[in-house]
Amino acid sequence: MENTHPAIAEALLPFHRLSEICLAHLAEAPENGNKVAGVYCAFAPEELIRALGILPVSLCGKDEKPISVAETHLPAALCPLIKSSYGFALSDTCPYFAASDVIIGETTCDGKKKMFELMGKMKPVHVMQLPYAVDNSSARTFWREEILRLKTFLEKQTARKVTDAALTEQIELINLRNSKLMKLADMMAADVPPISGRELLKVMESRNVAIDIASYNGLLDNLLSTIDSVAGKTESKKKPRILITGCPMGSGSDKVMKIIEDLGGIVVAQEHCGGLKSIFRHIDTGTNLLNSLADHYLGTPCACMSPNTRRLDYLLKLCEQFTADAVIDATLQNCHPYTVEHQSVATLIEEKAGIPVFHVNTGYSPSDTEQIRVRVEAFLEML
Ligand code: SF4
Ligand code: SF4
Repeated sequence: MENTHPAIAEALLPFHRLSEICLAHLAEAPENGNKVAGVYCAFAPEELIRALGILPVSLCGKDEKPISVAETHLPAALCPLIKSSYGFALSDTCPYFAASDVIIGETTCDGKKKMFELMGKMKPVHVMQLPYAVDNSSARTFWREEILRLKTFLEKQTARKVTDAALTEQIELINLRNSKLMKLADMMAADVPPISGRELLKVMESRNVAIDIASYNGLLDNLLSTIDSVAGKTESKKKPRILITGCPMGSGSDKVMKIIEDLGGIVVAQEHCGGLKSIFRHIDTGTNLLNSLADHYLGTPCACMSPNTRRLDYLLKLCEQFTADAVIDATLQNCHPYTVEHQSVATLIEEKAGIPVFHVNTGYSPSDTEQIRVRVEAFLEML
């Protein structure tokens, strides 16, 4: 962002280098006796994976390039995230997929669960069967069993046993990481946010490749204290404040965010999976750890859940906390859960928060960029 204070820009730099460091860790994993698990979704319990010394890496595809390869196996009318993820695997062009010993999948949406069946021909894939009713007690019991089934699978892979001490350590480390990320995200509630939404997104998604969480937490501390130290020293005019929600987003699939901020808006809150959805709640370490872990993950406010009232409640809270002027719901083409849920999101926000909601349904191709730009420009002018 042109107005990012130079000291903050400097403190952001190490986050851009984390993928390189991650690849070095993955290359050393076999000689260090560590397995690598590829994950695709916010329902994958990172704490349990790490408690066995397994390194989790996110394989979520955000790039258009591998889609044409994926379409040799998959129908074109499938969400680009699935096609990109599968295309990377099929074309063997993702070093993270190549380094993964196992893949952890979940039966979230139909496209993803069928993709995992095909992926099972390339790597060992363990699929967690996800129930969709978060407040139903039998669904909770079922999912707790699924967490145990994953534990057994991972223990077999590593010939190790999960201990309470190791699980507690990982839960506390990740709770701490998430609270620091939330502190950073909360800073966007200021009249003049210290960084752009896209800069925040880069930091948020870097957690997916941060193998050493303790040093990652150190980088976050440095960024947070740098922002504190230059508070009030950044010149900027007030901008239209946008809350973005919808399908997962990350660098490479942040076309809509780029358009909003290039046009003079500021994305003050990001509810999607690459942003707050997967980090705003903490895991309780006081009770049965595995049940606690299971209940936490089942509470993820993803549109695959039915009903998904927790997402709606959270969106309302975010509108107020970040004094949003509008919500932009950015969904991916052929994503049924999020595109159908758009109606509920728009009605709720317009009626209860009293601010407008704008829907952009797009893919990874840049071909509709100009068309979206014109529509977003007209929308921002209305605010
Ligand atoms: S939006 Fe839902 S299915 Fe997609 S990555 Fe997030 S939690 Fe998983
Ligand atoms: S964006 Fe939608 S269709 Fe694509 S993987 Fe996520 S939930 Fe499934």
